Amino acid sequence: MKLELTKEQEEFRNKVRDFAQNVIAKYAEENDRTGKLSQELIRKMGDAGYLGLTVPKEYGGNLVDNICYAIAIEEMAKVCASTAISVAVHSSLGCGTILYYGSEELKKKYLPDLASGRKIGAFCLTEPNAGSDAGAIQTTAKPEGDGYVLNGEKTFILNGPIASVYTVFALTQPELKTKGISAIVVERDAPGFSISHVFDKLGVRAAETAKLKFENTRVPKTNLLGKEGEGFKIALSCLDGGRIGVAAQALGIAEICLESAITYAKQRVQFGQPISKNQGLQWMIAEMATRIEAARLLVYNAAYHRDMGRRVTKEASMAKLFASQCAVDASSLCMQIHGGYSYMKEYPIERYYRDAKITQIYEGTSEVQRIVISNTLGL
Ligand SMILES: Cc1cc2nc3c(=O)[nH]c(=O)nc-3n(C[C@H](O)[C@H](O)[C@H](O)COP(=O)(O)OP(=O)(O)OC[C@H]3O[C@@H](n4cnc5c(N)ncnc54)[C@H](O)[C@@H]3O)c2cc1C
Repeated sequence: MKLELTKEQEEFRNKVRDFAQNVIAKYAEENDRTGKLSQELIRKMGDAGYLGLTVPKEYGGNLVDNICYAIAIEEMAKVCASTAISVAVHSSLGCGTILYYGSEELKKKYLPDLASGRKIGAFCLTEPNAGSDAGAIQTTAKPEGDGYVLNGEKTFILNGPIASVYTVFALTQPELKTKGISAIVVERDAPGFSISHVFDKLGVRAAETAKLKFENTRVPKTNLLGKEGEGFKIALSCLDGGRIGVAAQALGIAEICLESAITYAKQRVQFGQPISKNQGLQWMIAEMATRIEAARLLVYNAAYHRDMGRRVTKEASMAKLFASQCAVDASSLCMQIHGGYSYMKEYPIERYYRDAKITQIYEGTSEVQRIVISNTLGL
């Protein structure tokens, strides 16, 4: 068993780390303060190829393997968790749904613009009355002539305010319940489509998130992904990849908390010595480092199995469940180690704490991950 990254994967990490630390980092504080993802940063990421990581070259992308994809999200999250998740949702769910389930015509139409960052993608499953129970969605897409007419509402849609291409899950045959759900691409300028509310949030503040409304929104039948009735399956299979992204984001947040805690503990002097000399603090840091190591192995393991072409429902859920708890715990310990300074907006420590929590909620809460894992165990 080999537990090492390849030379190419190490080189990719160096490249993306350099970009994250020298480019993305400069926007992190402003992104968080304004609650907006810098348009200039989106352009720079597009130009550097980081918005096409899940798209093959033939569609204008810069496809990398799943381990490199996880590394990219991890490195971005170390400097700006908002940027990391905006890229992750765009890549694995926005581009992913079209790449895996779109017709050749749809792939040619949308993927080059998405991969270059000229357009941003979003994934629209959750509704006001359907969160963990995603199969209970009520939005309809009534087949009419050569199109579908959509009516309903989606909520908590990440990238909602900045996207141009939305993968929307809606009932084409309501009487069939989950088997009547279809996945349909809706463009931002479709008539009857609107962004009805933009949320102000605790963390990942620049991962812009919105409520969307469909009022007799007509789209051509050719915008269907997969076949009618396959939407729920499509959502779940794309979420396997999406959850690796969230787990990688959580890993990145935990890692920056560990690095910051070690640096500060060695510098801060109390009672005549660095606080790192206290065994109580050393144990906190040792615990953090151990859990991060375990989280990293789970994240790369899920990515590795996906690279092998295997189904990773269990592996992705385990990685997300563990890494998100790891991020929440690490950010809390990091706050504790930084004492009063951690609480001040002048330093990024409180941002890590605010950003960590969401990793236990989106793309399936920790309770839902436990349900998914126990289902794969035959329970
Ligand atoms: C910032 C943000 C961005 C998001 N981005 C997107 C996006 O881009 N696209 C999208 O479609 N959705 C998105 N979501 C939605 C997200 O996936 C849901 O919020 C999440 O799945 C939980 O649904 P809910 O909020 O309705 O909570 P609920 O489902 O109402 O759950 C409330 C609580 O009950 C628990 N619970 C529910 N059912 C069970 C059960 N059977 N057993 C045990 N506990 C249970 C949950 O774990 C949770 O603790 C986003 C959410 C947020 C906050």
